[in-house]
Amino acid sequence: MLIDFVINFCILFTFAILTYIPFQNKLNVYIPSYNYARFILGILSGFTGCLLMLTSVSISDFFIVDGRMAVIALSGVLGGPFAPIISGTIIGVFRLFMYGFSTNALIAGSSTIVIGLVIGLWSWKKTMTFQNVPYFFGYSILQTSIVLGFLGNWKFETWLAIISFIVFSVLSFSIIFVILKLLSSLFEKIKHIEEMSVTDYLTGLNNNRKFQECTQKLIENNEVFSLLLLDIDYFKKVNDTYGHPVGDEVLKELALRIKNTSKPFEGIVSRNGGEEFSVILRNTTDDKSLEISDLIRLAIEKNLFLISTGEELCITISGGVSTFPEDAVTTHELYKLADEALYLAKTSGRNKVVHINHS
Ligand code: GH3
Ligand code: MG
Ligand code: MG
Repeated sequence: MLIDFVINFCILFTFAILTYIPFQNKLNVYIPSYNYARFILGILSGFTGCLLMLTSVSISDFFIVDGRMAVIALSGVLGGPFAPIISGTIIGVFRLFMYGFSTNALIAGSSTIVIGLVIGLWSWKKTMTFQNVPYFFGYSILQTSIVLGFLGNWKFETWLAIISFIVFSVLSFSIIFVILKLLSSLFEKIKHIEEMSVTDYLTGLNNNRKFQECTQKLIENNEVFSLLLLDIDYFKKVNDTYGHPVGDEVLKELALRIKNTSKPFEGIVSRNGGEEFSVILRNTTDDKSLEISDLIRLAIEKNLFLISTGEELCITISGGVSTFPEDAVTTHELYKLADEALYLAKTSGRNKVVHINHS
């Protein structure tokens, strides 16, 4: 009998892992369509439930025990309200005809359908999560135990079946629950580390690595874009006068302003290092890129920067622009040209933007 329990658990476990990883998309595993995910999950769960019943453990001639309730509950967490309704219905209908139609089969099958429906409707009101799924699962165990009790007239054999059912269901569900939670936190950490590896810690903008990736992608796709490099004017003075922490405050506020101003143009903003920023302006050539660059420059110049000492600083930036594929066809060359244009902006008075073609 023990080996039967192990087999049943293994099927349940395989189902949980195989559905959890792709459908939670924690590793960006490709799913053809998220709109259908809940239906696919419901159907998959339903068939897994049937498989569990086919390999269920016979406690007596009358009672079988398996992990189908765990499948219904898990389908709700992974697929939302539709999934338990679908899986409950498939499992319930299968139960009706599995051993030939009888009153007992009708009661047991209907009970499973009701459980699927109740969990589905309940989770419509309260989204199922790993935190609250034990309540949904607890309800399904309770209802099934009561139905089992009624069907078996609460005899000794019935109690044995109910206890086996509860122990097996709770134990297998708990093991899967703990493992999925562990996986979930691991995937969250991986995602966080992935994000950190492309994000600038101070401003939250893209870092230089992400900047390189983005430009490379645009070049590979042969998409026209302009590269705007920005550098704060006389920033050393801010650090020298107010200290490094205030300098950091300015950098954060500046990053926010560049981001907000670039947003309507879908500019890709990065902090390339120190007090140097870049904006990738897609589908823009010389004139348009200069127009947008000037808006960004004005967004910095127009309003004073309030710092933590209560003072207000006047900050300006200078910029240099180059355009792909007009001026260069590699990231390195484009950067070099934009940097040259920036140098021209600096040497010709600062607080301005120069395009390498207009220099
Ligand atoms: P200009 O660009 O107009 O020629 O003058 P500048 O004073 O800005 O010149 P420079 O580029 O030489 O100075 C950059 C300064 O930026 C030097 C450095 O102390 C400061 N800096 C670089 N990274 C950070 C940072 O993360 N935080 C702060 N607070 N300062 C930084
Ligand atoms: Mg600099
Ligand atoms: Mg500077």
